[in-house]
Amino acid sequence: MKTNYEVAIIGGGIIGCSIAYYLAKEQIDVAVFEEKQLASKSTSAAAGMLGAHSECNDLEIFYPFARKSQLAYFQLQDELKELSGIDIELRKGGIFQLAYSEAEKSELSSTLSLPTVRWYDRDNVRHEESSVSTNIIGAAFIEDDVNVLPSSVCQAFGKSAQVLGASVFEYTSVLSIQKQDSSYTIKTSKGNFQAKYIVVANGVWSSNFFHQLGLTNTLIPVKGECVSVSSEKPLLKHTLFHEHCYIVPRNNGRLVLGASMVENDWNEQASLGGIEKLIAKAKTMLPSIIDMKIESFWAGLRPQTFDQKPFIGHHPDDEGILFATGHYRNGILLAPATGQMIRDFIMKKEIKKDWIEAFKIERQKR
Ligand SMILES: Cc1cc2nc3c(=O)[nH]c(=O)nc-3n(C[C@H](O)[C@H](O)[C@H](O)COP(=O)(O)OP(=O)(O)OC[C@H]3O[C@@H](n4cnc5c(N)ncnc54)[C@H](O)[C@@H]3O)c2cc1C
Repeated sequence: MKTNYEVAIIGGGIIGCSIAYYLAKEQIDVAVFEEKQLASKSTSAAAGMLGAHSECNDLEIFYPFARKSQLAYFQLQDELKELSGIDIELRKGGIFQLAYSEAEKSELSSTLSLPTVRWYDRDNVRHEESSVSTNIIGAAFIEDDVNVLPSSVCQAFGKSAQVLGASVFEYTSVLSIQKQDSSYTIKTSKGNFQAKYIVVANGVWSSNFFHQLGLTNTLIPVKGECVSVSSEKPLLKHTLFHEHCYIVPRNNGRLVLGASMVENDWNEQASLGGIEKLIAKAKTMLPSIIDMKIESFWAGLRPQTFDQKPFIGHHPDDEGILFATGHYRNGILLAPATGQMIRDFIMKKEIKKDWIEAFKIERQKR
């Protein structure tokens, strides 16, 4: 078995698999090490919204990075399908970000200032979505905030990377990283491997490696719970979004309601209380949802950093160790731009200085 690679990636979620894909495209010899199966953790729990506008709380850093990533998806859907045969289910339609008062409308003013966002009053929203609550005064309509099926995107990245020459080791847990001259040895549950670069991309569990690598950073788990419901007739064409909660339409008339936010909870099971709150919230957006049938429910852990921006970049004292983790609520959206940025670090290509500064792991609290 081959045990020597140029790049070893720890974690086979959407971030690790995106990095593998962009490196393999450049003929870089890369391997992904995944403790369970690809897409088995936070990635498979996600609703898959690409909310570059609706999740935007910072027009200077988050928006341009997120927008670049969102736009990459429009190209990736065909590229990944051709290589892997997997459909990422990029579903057009966009988002209605609802407002129930003039105060909520003014809170949307920075989103509404973007050229890709338009205000719809209540009648226009209800013309598009007749089941939406009559209590709204209107909504920001964001056509480009579409959604994908996150586990399919992750599988498609992983499979496409393999088609291009990458290796994927599932059920292989990385236990430690050790430096040896100009390369690294990673000790795994299946033996030792060597690599010139190591990328730490194992979601909320990356903290374990921060400590091994002499860093004091931590990641805080923010549990999110979701419910999937179905009806014979599709009830929605667009995603509805209000105060961090959403109802996302999927294929076959299914709707995904998400997601709760429970900080510092490492338990990966959904709770009845969390699901109850979600259903109550969804009812305020779409009253008739209450007649739909429950299909399933689940939970996952979002990896949150101290300032809610990801850690993407080199170890401060060691160019061979890179981090790509802490993507919190937006790992699906930010996966392509993160994969490209890590590729550019490894290939020593030019990267926007603002992004290097904003995402470096040694940044300070402002
Ligand atoms: C309910 C919910 C809804 C969400 N909705 C959205 C959304 O609509 N849009 C959006 O953009 N984002 C969303 N997110 C956020 C998104 O899911 C995450 O930001 C993203 O999945 C993080 O990806 P990741 O690859 O870093 O982590 P993960 O998907 O958690 O992957 C990390 C992987 O590392 C593996 N691993 C851990 N330790 C080791 C080890 N020692 N060795 C080897 N492998 C290891 C794990 O098994 C896991 O597969 C949501 C999250 C949740 C929980």
